[in-house]
Amino acid sequence: MRKPFVAGNWKMNKTIAEARSLVSEMTPILGGITEVEKVLCPPFMAIFPVGALLQGTDIGLGAQNMYWEAKGAFTGEVAPGMVAEFCMYIIVGHSERRTYFSETDETVNKKTAAALSAKLIPIVCVGETLGEYESGRTAEVVSRQIRVGLKDLDPEFAAQCVVAYEPVWAIGTGRASTSENANAVIRDFIRKPLSEMYGEQTGQSVRVLYGGSVTAANAAEFFGQPEIDGALVGGASLKVDEFVAIVQAAAKRA
Ligand code: PEP
Repeated sequence: MRKPFVAGNWKMNKTIAEARSLVSEMTPILGGITEVEKVLCPPFMAIFPVGALLQGTDIGLGAQNMYWEAKGAFTGEVAPGMVAEFCMYIIVGHSERRTYFSETDETVNKKTAAALSAKLIPIVCVGETLGEYESGRTAEVVSRQIRVGLKDLDPEFAAQCVVAYEPVWAIGTGRASTSENANAVIRDFIRKPLSEMYGEQTGQSVRVLYGGSVTAANAAEFFGQPEIDGALVGGASLKVDEFVAIVQAAAKRA
């Protein structure tokens, strides 16, 4: 049985004061929804103050990015062990990192392996662009992102990864995938290659999320699909009512 999982990716939004206020409003309601693993991923500067407010709750804290090296002369970067001092989760390979910061399947692989070594749970993002979708290349792109991005992981820890299927054309556009399409992509191009790489048990036990214009209005439809275990939520995670309603919809899946 895979526990439902909902993570909020705040991206580059919220000052420390704004982050505190958002979390203070969300925490009392989210804390009561115990059927769902809930994670907030604020920007780096707000990690510590948000973490302080989450202490004593069952709401997890995640970062949005990190470097794979343990330490050294990498100005501006943050090491896995530094993230792990405050967080349990790390988003890896978000499409905005791939697009604006030249991340590749190979760097995603290094970060995923480094995250697991640091005892972080990586939330690994995959998904095709609009051009790839329209030219019928979803299968090729998503299965390659899985095969390369998650290759050669310690088999003992591979099942701890969370994968987010986020078609790039659906992120922040208001144009979500259909739930049937997302379910089929996850079944055929995420779980299947994972099963081939790490065995059927791992392929079936990894939590796989859908991300891309998830809202309170459409969340239940996604969570009604057998392969979709939750959501990675961008814009709607910045609104208390929306995010709470998405988590409540995930709880019904439990
Ligand atoms: C995201 O950034 O991962 C995302 C899914 O964004 P949105 O929900 O705004 O589409």
